[in-house]
Amino acid sequence: MKNNPYSAKIQNLAESATIAISTLANELKAQGRDILSFSAGEPDFDTPKVIKDAAIRALDAGFTKYTAVAGILPLRKAIANKLERENNLKYDPSEILVSNGAKQSLFNVFQALINDGDEVIIPSPYWVTYPELVAYSGGKSIFIETNENTGFKITASMLRDAITPRTKAIVLTTPSNPTGSVYTKAELEALSDVLKGSDIWVISDEMYEKLIYNGSFVSSAAISEDMLARSITINGLSKSVAMTGWRIGYLASKDKMLIKMMDNLQSQCTSNINSITQMAAISALDGSADSDIEMMRQAFLERCKEGAKLINQIENLSVKEPDGAFYFFINIKDSAYGRDSMRFAKELLEREGVALVPGIAFGMEGYVRFSFACSLEQIREGIGRIARFLKG
Ligand code: PMP
Ligand code: GLU
Repeated sequence: MKNNPYSAKIQNLAESATIAISTLANELKAQGRDILSFSAGEPDFDTPKVIKDAAIRALDAGFTKYTAVAGILPLRKAIANKLERENNLKYDPSEILVSNGAKQSLFNVFQALINDGDEVIIPSPYWVTYPELVAYSGGKSIFIETNENTGFKITASMLRDAITPRTKAIVLTTPSNPTGSVYTKAELEALSDVLKGSDIWVISDEMYEKLIYNGSFVSSAAISEDMLARSITINGLSKSVAMTGWRIGYLASKDKMLIKMMDNLQSQCTSNINSITQMAAISALDGSADSDIEMMRQAFLERCKEGAKLINQIENLSVKEPDGAFYFFINIKDSAYGRDSMRFAKELLEREGVALVPGIAFGMEGYVRFSFACSLEQIREGIGRIARFLKG
């Protein structure tokens, strides 16, 4: 074996912190410990029946072969129709690529866009995966630190200050994981004005689009023709219709050459996504599951209100009710843990069996992330344990 058997880039790649903590919580549970995990961003609901029925029909019909790498045409048509109907975005099916979760969509995008040393602007706090994928593609993450007072959102002047001649792309996540903030149309317009005339791509991660509790959702690409041309719209079905395990995400771009290059990449690593999932996904996108989606949103909304109220009753903790997604980004700065979110999370897990994700995993100290994608009963119990933990 050579002295250095592994590539430098794989050695520099960190494990997903959110997955690592939920795996640890599951292991502790399997050992018999009484663990309540609020670490993974995964809806507790079952996939709606109308979607499962479509999968069963596909299986019975023997739809079990390889398909086109980008996904079957009826699925890409269903995605194009959804983007037009719900997001006011006109994409042709040839401008859409379906992948194994939005995670693979993001992987494809960074691999296809980034040359060594290119800069990618990422508002912080950010979802754990972006900087890792940027680094893996040879790029450099440039973080714009936001804060609670401005709703964890970047402004036009913050964006202007972060742009350099090396800026290749910006990642916008709305609603945000981990903060739940949602950009308004006016805020997106202000950001788009800064980008006008540049050749900067916008990677718009819209995974939590269906989970809005306050205001309304606007797609970045819907702001203007200019934004449509520079945006890569990323979405998926994991969160909106509780399909995390089925593995389906998708992206859309007006740049057909970019789509073709990512299709080439995918053809060399994973090919098409699971054929059964593709058939099921059509029913998730054509409106048949809309009542199930609304039922889940209502349940998340109730959990959001109740959970935020209970957290704010705990001395030295505070949280702003998120406008979207299903996370509380809890401010712990006034607690005895101050800015040490890792120690907070570790001791809470050891002493009370409650798993949260430390803010530092998302690039921001002084916070912990609590996923409320679980029952109200678990939320009440978990917050009760956190209160007990802080009392010492
Ligand atoms: N984007 C965001 C913001 C997420 O939180 C997630 C979490 N799963 C993803 C993308 C990827 O989801 P998936 O791969 O399950 O489609
Ligand atoms: N995105 C979810 C989260 O933030 C799922 C875990 C992951 O994919 O990293 O918890």
